[in-house]
Amino acid sequence: MEKTVKKIQMVDLKTQYEKIKPEVDAAIQNVLNNTAFINGPEVKAFQAELEEYLGTKHVIPCANGTDALQIAMMALDLKPGDEIITADFTYVATAEVIALLGLKPVLVDVIPDTFDIDINAIEKAITSKTKAIVPVHLFGQCANMEALMQLAKKHNLYVIEDTAQAIGAVYRYTDGTTKKAGTIGTIGCTSFFPSKNLGCYGDGGAIFTNDDALAAKIRMIANHGQSVQYIHDSIGVNSRLDSIQAAILRIKLRDLDNYAAARNKAAAHYDKAFANNSKLKTPARAKYSDHVFHQYTLQLNGVDRDKLREFLASKDIPAMIYYPIPLHMQKAYLDPRYKAGDFPVTEKLCASVVSLPMHTELDEETLNYISSSVLEFVNR
Ligand SMILES: *Cc1c(COP(=O)(O)O)cnc(C)c1O
Repeated sequence: MEKTVKKIQMVDLKTQYEKIKPEVDAAIQNVLNNTAFINGPEVKAFQAELEEYLGTKHVIPCANGTDALQIAMMALDLKPGDEIITADFTYVATAEVIALLGLKPVLVDVIPDTFDIDINAIEKAITSKTKAIVPVHLFGQCANMEALMQLAKKHNLYVIEDTAQAIGAVYRYTDGTTKKAGTIGTIGCTSFFPSKNLGCYGDGGAIFTNDDALAAKIRMIANHGQSVQYIHDSIGVNSRLDSIQAAILRIKLRDLDNYAAARNKAAAHYDKAFANNSKLKTPARAKYSDHVFHQYTLQLNGVDRDKLREFLASKDIPAMIYYPIPLHMQKAYLDPRYKAGDFPVTEKLCASVVSLPMHTELDEETLNYISSSVLEFVNR
């Protein structure tokens, strides 16, 4: 048989699946056999295992990460007109649900080295209408949660962590104690979209909280606003994680820390290859957070990004721009409060970042090929 050269992908789910195929296939078959497709025992088992892994009291599974954010905001009884502060440099879902619920997204800039939400900018954006802050643990590294929680406490604000990209990341307080990403704020929200660090084979999401009353309310809202069947105490949504996805997630959760280690190994390779190159700024490591490298994102300095991507594409290496347009410049989110130049860090990042292939299955040979190709273009 001819040896096929493996195509380089941003995320290689196939090779990862092949390594756990017998377990995954058996788990799916098991759900097919017992036909408990919705709210089956796999969902309850996954919920308990994720609670244990995260060290949080309650995990409420739901249909996707966007729903998780929406349900979290509904559970906090936020009212139209309430102001919610979030980062300008993020995936659209964060701001989308704020706008969808008639709340007012208040955007703030990020800090340039870690891509984290800027705590000083949050403080300046707080008004008497501010009700919550939504930090995004972008690319796999936690925002500065200790400072953020102090600020939230001072102003009596809720904190909803968007940890769709950072599940498993460990946050470190200045006194040395640690907590997992998503378990620090009032509520944490995550996504199990296939390409996320803990990805299922379809859509999925979850909400975390340590508050018993809030957990009950979140559960109720995710289930049509009912805690007793056909008794609807509040307007809810229909948002469920199905049993097949839960069965797959149970298997992948056991490997999550190994997956993070594999991602860190790939990141270390890139870091070393690009160290001391004035045209490439490698992602900074915050002293307060582990990095689980959902993305490995370089900042280019004096490099034509489109030409670099074309060059890499010609060598069958994909590279992506996360994210090309700041939220305040997106047509759907244009707002007279904001104009070009208002968030200079985000605007600069959107123009200069590029993310390289990052997943759990990158071998040395592939990493060498990718990094030497980047350097070949940059240094010529
Ligand atoms: C993926 C993602 C979401 C949304 O998750 P879905 O499961 O796709 O709805 C929200 N926020 C961030 C930061 C994400 O990366």
